[in-house]
Amino acid sequence: IARTANELVGDLNPQQAEAVQYRGPALLIGAGAGSGKTRVLTRRIAYILSQFGAWPSQILAITFTNKAAAEMRERLSALIGPVAERMWVSTFHSACVRILRRDGKSIGLDSGFSIYDTADCERLVKLIAADLNIDVKRYTPRAILSRISDYKNNLEGWQDKLREQAPDYRPGQRGYQIGNPGNAEALYAIVYAEYQHRLAAANAVDFDDLIGRTVELLRRDPAVADYYRHKFRYILVDEYQDTNHAQYVLIRELAGVDAAKGAPAPANMPYAGREGQAWITVVGDSDQSIYAFRGADIRNIQDFEQDFPNAKTIMLEQNYRSTQTILDAANAVIAHNEGRKPKKLWTALGKGEPIVGYAADNAQQEAAWIAGEIARLHGEENIGYSDMAIMYRANAQSRSLEEALINAGLPYQLVGGTRFYERREIKDAIAYLQGIVNPADDVNMRRILNVPKRGLGARAEAIVAGYAETNAIPFYAAIERLDSIEGVPTRTANQLRAFRDLMDGLRKFAADPANRPSDIVAEVLSKSGLLDELKKSEDPQDASRVENLSQLQSVAAEFEQNTPDATLAGFLETTALVADSDQLPGEGEDSGKVTLMTLHTAKGLEYPVVFLTGMEQGTFPHSRAMEDASELSEERRLAYVGITRAKRRLYVTRAAVRAQWGQANEMMPSQFLDEIPDGLIDWKRREAGVERMRANWSNGGFDDDEFGGWGDDDFGGTTYGGSAYGSGSRGGSYGSSSSYGSYGSTGSTYGSSSYGSS
Ligand code: ATP
Ligand code: MG
Repeated sequence: IARTANELVGDLNPQQAEAVQYRGPALLIGAGAGSGKTRVLTRRIAYILSQFGAWPSQILAITFTNKAAAEMRERLSALIGPVAERMWVSTFHSACVRILRRDGKSIGLDSGFSIYDTADCERLVKLIAADLNIDVKRYTPRAILSRISDYKNNLEGWQDKLREQAPDYRPGQRGYQIGNPGNAEALYAIVYAEYQHRLAAANAVDFDDLIGRTVELLRRDPAVADYYRHKFRYILVDEYQDTNHAQYVLIRELAGVDAAKGAPAPANMPYAGREGQAWITVVGDSDQSIYAFRGADIRNIQDFEQDFPNAKTIMLEQNYRSTQTILDAANAVIAHNEGRKPKKLWTALGKGEPIVGYAADNAQQEAAWIAGEIARLHGEENIGYSDMAIMYRANAQSRSLEEALINAGLPYQLVGGTRFYERREIKDAIAYLQGIVNPADDVNMRRILNVPKRGLGARAEAIVAGYAETNAIPFYAAIERLDSIEGVPTRTANQLRAFRDLMDGLRKFAADPANRPSDIVAEVLSKSGLLDELKKSEDPQDASRVENLSQLQSVAAEFEQNTPDATLAGFLETTALVADSDQLPGEGEDSGKVTLMTLHTAKGLEYPVVFLTGMEQGTFPHSRAMEDASELSEERRLAYVGITRAKRRLYVTRAAVRAQWGQANEMMPSQFLDEIPDGLIDWKRREAGVERMRANWSNGGFDDDEFGGWGDDDFGGTTYGGSAYGSGSRGGSYGSSSSYGSYGSTGSTYGSSSYGSS
C-alpha cells in the first residue's frame, strides 16, 4: 500500500510530523515518556518507504524487546502492507544473529552456532573453575560472568586482558591451576580467555557475544562490512538511552559513520547515503535509562549531537498517554535527579483521577488490598483485567501478589520470574535439540549425557572429557571415538554406545526434510526417555513438567505455522532470544488477565490502570542503591518509568513490614512517595500499624539504637538531603501518635528525630 505523506503525518503534532519527514544523516528524537517516540519511529519507517522511495531491505529498525519488534512490525503492516513481514525489524540480538549466521564464517563461527543463555554460561564457567582449581566460594561463577559481561559490553577483548594481566597463560592450556591468586584481575583475565576459547571450540556464543562478535566481524572483514553498509541505508533505534558501548559501536560500524568520508554514494539511493553513510534515527529519553547494570551508557544519548556529524535533535513535548495528575507526579519525581535537562511535558487529557495511595501493615495485606481493588474496578467500573498491571521492583515480590490474586480468584499472568525456557525439563529438551544441530556444543552434550539417568555419571563424563581435552576435540567427538579411549569399564562403554546411537538416530531423523521441528521435538521427547522418566515419577511436580514439555511441542508447531521454511535451527534461535516481555500477548490480543511484572520489563508499555507496589525504602529504591548517588538516580528513573506506564489511574502502595531473607523488616515509606506532591495522592490508608515481630529482632524490640541510629546516620546524609524526610510536606503521615499505636511503649522512638513531626 503506497501511502501519501498526509496519511502518514496528518494526525501528528508539528514536532512529530517534522521528525517523521526529516531528511538528514542523523536525527535524535528526544522526549519524555508517552510523547509518541515509538509511534513517530514507526511512521518514519513508513514515510521513508513511501516518500523517500527506499526499499524495505534497506531499512534496519532496532527495538528493545522481541515483543516491541513484533508490535512495530504489526503497525507497519497496517501502514504499508505485507512487505513489513520481511523487513529487518528486530532487537540488536536478533539482528546480530542474522548477520552472524550469514557471515560469521570469516571469524570462525559456523552458521549452526549455539546461543548460550545465562544458565549455560554458568555451567561453562563452573567447568572452567573446576579445571583451573578456582575457589568458587570466593569467585562465584555469577560474579565472574558479570565481569566478563562488563568486558564485552565495553568491547574489551580477552586477548588484551590476557596481555595486560596474565601474559603467560595460553587458552586451552592443560593442568594450569589458579587456586587463590593475589591478583583477582589476572584470574578474571584467564577465565575470560578460557571461556572464549571453549565457546569457540563449542561453536557457541553468549548474548553479549552476539553484539561483540558482530562488531569484530565488521571490523575484520571489509567485504562483509561493505555489504551491510550498502545494504542498510536507514538505521532506526528505539530506546536508544539503553544502548551500551558495544551496541553504540555496532550502529556506527553498520552505518559506516567512521568509514564514510569519501565513500561514493550508492547509485540507487535518491536521498540517504550521499555522504556514504546510512541515515541514523535514534529515539529515546535519558530519564528512562534503567539498564546501567547491563552496561547501558546514558552518554550515548546525551552525546549524540557531538558523536554524529550534522546531527539534528527534535524534542516532543506533548504526552498522549497519561492524565495531568500522573504526569505531574512523574515530572515531580524525576526533577529530583541532578544534572538532567529539564523537559516540558504536557497533556491535553485533563487532570483525571487522583493517584490512590495505600499503606498496608505488611506485604500480604498490601497484596490483598490490591486484589480487592482490582475486583472492584472490574465489577463496578467495568475495567478489563488485561487493562490492569501490577508492577514491582524485584521478581521476589510477585509471590505475595500472586497468592492474593489466586485467593481472590482473579486471572493473572506473570511476566518474568522463572521463565519457561529456564525450566529444567525445557532446558533438557532444548539441550538435545542443540546437540542435534551442533554436536560440538559441549555444555549441552554434557548436560544430557546422563539425563534421563542412564548410568553415565561423573566418572564416565570425566573419562570422556579427559580424552576430549587431550586430543583437543569436542566432547561428543570423543564419544564417537569410544573404541580408542582406554580404561573404560564395559558397562560404561555399552551405555556410551547406546547414547551415541540415540544421538545419531535423532540426527538422522532431524535431517529428513519431511520431519518438521515439532516432529523432531516429539521424537526427542520419546526416544531420549525424558518423557517416560517424568511420567513414571510419583513427584507431583513432574506432572507439570510433562505439561511444560507438551507446551514446548506446541511452541514448535506454532513456530512452523508462522514461519515459511521452518528449520530446527530457526526454532532454537527463537527460543534462545525470547526475553521476559516476550511472553506478553501481542497487540490487540486480549489476555483477559491482570499482568504482573517488574518495572524493568514494563519499559515502553502502557496500561489504563497501574499499581506501583512496594514503595518502601530498601525495596524501591532498592537497598543496594540507597548509598550511591548515581544508583539512586537510576532507581528514580525507574520510578519515572513506572509512573508513566499509567494512562488513567495510578496506585501507589507500600507495606510497613516486609519479609526479606526470612526476616520481617520494618520498612520506611519510599522517598519517591515524598517526591510526589502531596495534593496529587488520595490516601485510602495513610498510616500503617506495624506488627510487632519481636521474635525476629535479635535484640528484642524496636529500640533507640536501631531506629534512632538509622535515621541519623543513613538517612541524614548526602544521598537523602535532609529535605526528603522531616519536612512539613508530609502532612500528618508521620509523627501522629495514632499511627504507631501498635508499638506500645517503644512507639515513642518514632515520630521523633528520624522523621520529624509535621
Ligand atoms: P515511552 O517513552 O514510554 O516509550 P513513547 O514516547 O514511545 O513512550 P508512544 O508509546 O509512541 O510514546 O505513544 C504513547 C501513546 O500515545 C500511544 O498510545 C500512542 O498511540 C499515543 N500517541 C502518540 N502520538 C499521538 C498523536 N499524535 N495522536 C494520538 N495519539 C498519539
Ligand atoms: Mg516508546
